[in-house]
Amino acid sequence: MLVKAKKSFLQRFYLVEVIKGLGITMRNMLFAPKVTIQYPEERRKYSERFRGMHYVKATNGVENCTACMLCPTVCPAECIHIVAGERPDKEKYPVQFEIDVLRCCFCGMCEEACPKDAIKLSTIYEMSQVTRQVYDKDYLAEQRGNK
Ligand code: SF4
Ligand code: SF4
Repeated sequence: MLVKAKKSFLQRFYLVEVIKGLGITMRNMLFAPKVTIQYPEERRKYSERFRGMHYVKATNGVENCTACMLCPTVCPAECIHIVAGERPDKEKYPVQFEIDVLRCCFCGMCEEACPKDAIKLSTIYEMSQVTRQVYDKDYLAEQRGNK
């Protein structure tokens, strides 16, 4: 059998509860610390350990990568594609170096595995595009300046 609970006059109009709720809202609006920011006018400073957009490091304008193939080997998402070439000094270099960022899970394994400190993950987090992008060597080199 359904027994209806008896409500007082105030309870029937939910007045006390409404005032309580407004009190909580006002308290949070006026006194609680703000956890949001006015993006994009304001931007957070991320930790140096943040793993964002990749870039390829260079020394004296020549990329550090020697196309050793370690990073595509360790990459769990299999999103790094490198084609190796050979310079006149017999040093290898990447003729083609591409990262399909849509598949990347930003685990940082490529950075960890690289013996030449060539592939790095920056603190750049604004990577949205209107079309699917596979980032090539030139684009990754450009990110070096933006990091
Ligand atoms: S961060 Fe991880 S998933 Fe992304 S390219 Fe590097 S190894 Fe692959
Ligand atoms: S691990 Fe480093 S040196 Fe080797 S292919 Fe990748 S970026 Fe180049």
